[in-house]
Amino acid sequence: MAAHQHSADNNYDVDVLIVGAGPTGLALAAQLSSFGTSFRIIDRQMDRSEHSRALALQPRTLEALRPFGVSASLAAAGHPARGLHLHLPEQTIPVDLSDAGIEDSEYQHLLFLSQAETERALVSYLSARGVRVERGTELQELDRLDPEDPFAGMEAKIQRMDRGIERVRARYVVGADGAHSTVRAKMGMGWRGSGYPGTYVLADVEAAGAEPNTIHAYLNDDGFMMLFPLGSPATWRLIGMKEQGDTSEATLGSLQTMADKFTGGALQLKDPQWISTFKLSHQIAEYYQFGSVFLAGDAAHVHSPWPRRE
Ligand SMILES: Cc1cc2nc3c(=O)[nH]c(=O)nc-3n(C[C@H](O)[C@H](O)[C@H](O)COP(=O)(O)OP(=O)(O)OC[C@H]3O[C@@H](n4cnc5c(N)ncnc54)[C@H](O)[C@@H]3O)c2cc1C
Repeated sequence: MAAHQHSADNNYDVDVLIVGAGPTGLALAAQLSSFGTSFRIIDRQMDRSEHSRALALQPRTLEALRPFGVSASLAAAGHPARGLHLHLPEQTIPVDLSDAGIEDSEYQHLLFLSQAETERALVSYLSARGVRVERGTELQELDRLDPEDPFAGMEAKIQRMDRGIERVRARYVVGADGAHSTVRAKMGMGWRGSGYPGTYVLADVEAAGAEPNTIHAYLNDDGFMMLFPLGSPATWRLIGMKEQGDTSEATLGSLQTMADKFTGGALQLKDPQWISTFKLSHQIAEYYQFGSVFLAGDAAHVHSPWPRRE
């Protein structure tokens, strides 16, 4: 095992066990690695997703990632949001976003970049430091080392595809294991909230006819459709709202029908790399921390971290 995987304290195998290697777990791993803290990072998936999913990086995120030397390459690979074209039924209004009023940051724009690229940059930082994400490794059970003391550390039962069950004693466990977090469920940390009405379609796609390097927002009485400049794995990310009651599968044909409604045939969609549907919800964990266990990222909240009054 690599040096970063051993706790200096004999009571524990490792100081921090990170469950989940999405952007949250990877960013935490980068931070702990830079601190010299011992940790392991596991993920049940054998490989990373190549889908664009969370495609917008905030200036503050880039500032937080800068110490790991990844922000410059992310900024170079991504598309800064400098302009928006607001397409209304009767007119198109260009909106200049180049002066967003963020004077106190090196990164002055929202940056569009596929989540796959953000994860790739973090994995490559970790690899260069000898940190390996343990893939095909699933957290199954989580118990306190001392049932009377929630701060005394945890024992995690993990299932490794190649080597069977392993028990890991960790001073801290961080659940960065997404919206359906096993850590949150095992700790009985509640999950409050509900879904928003409406279903959204997402696609990484080519869109002939769209002016490049700008955001396009199409609005009419029935809803909206947006195109964000992405670059990889396709030039554009499309997000649109499905019509109420439409439960049909999203296809290139149905996306083209949607685009035609907003543009009168001015856009030709082709070569989709990914088409998905997505429902939004507002859910938040009752606690972000209980004793030695923390929740982070989607495990703690989807999507806004602010509690909403029901
Ligand atoms: C189809 C889709 C489209 C999306 N589109 C957008 C978008 O357009 N914009 C946007 O902002 N966001 C979008 N998101 C959401 C965005 O991807 C998430 O907010 C982001 O990935 C959260 O990061 P995370 O690291 O907290 O969790 P995740 O990325 O969910 O990572 C959690 C990881 O934990 C692992 N894991 C789970 N349980 C266990 C376990 N028991 N043991 C070991 N590993 C485990 C999983 O395999 C996963 O790799 C989308 C998500 C999906 C699924």
